Amino acid sequence: MVGVIAVVGRPNVGKSTLVNRILGRRAAVVEDVPGVTRDRVSYDAEWAGTDFRLVDTGGWESGVEGIDSAVADQAEIAVGLADTVILVVDGQVGMTATDERIVSMLRASGKTVTLAVNKIDGQSAEYLTAEFWKLGMGQPYGISAMHGRGIGELLDAAVAAL
Ligand code: GDP
Ligand code: MG
Repeated sequence: MVGVIAVVGRPNVGKSTLVNRILGRRAAVVEDVPGVTRDRVSYDAEWAGTDFRLVDTGGWESGVEGIDSAVADQAEIAVGLADTVILVVDGQVGMTATDERIVSMLRASGKTVTLAVNKIDGQSAEYLTAEFWKLGMGQPYGISAMHGRGIGELLDAAVAAL
């Protein structure tokens, strides 16, 4: 049995873009509007000689009402089935109340978490990463899923936690 890494986070932070980047192909659906990933979808992946299952999440995020609780429910199911978690946040938006709610749920789960601060597209944006130390989830890894920045360091940490 290979280990399972769940990718969780608010809608639109770039979870599916990150999954595609890790897979090296466009398997997960990426959209400019929240709510595209309706189910947990899992893929076979590999990093530095370690095979694992990568689970993209985000379902039931199309409705505006109850969006926070729906996202948290979905994340919770994926987290329960995972060995370790990548929490994705949006470095351009900054920390939100939903990020903090997801962190509470992750703490309660007892699972290890690697924190990815996405949309750090260039070196000039790196300062945005440090704010997320405040989430209390350890080192924030600044990445750009879109441009492939920082993915190796993130995966080293996540795979080490399997
Ligand atoms: P998800 O809802 O968390 O799965 O987010 P998606 O992967 O569907 O991406 C949401 C939007 O964010 C899309 O318009 C992506 O192109 C954009 N996006 C994802 N990663 C990055 C990134 O590293 N930098 C920037 N600037 N945009 C990104
Ligand atoms: Mg998605």
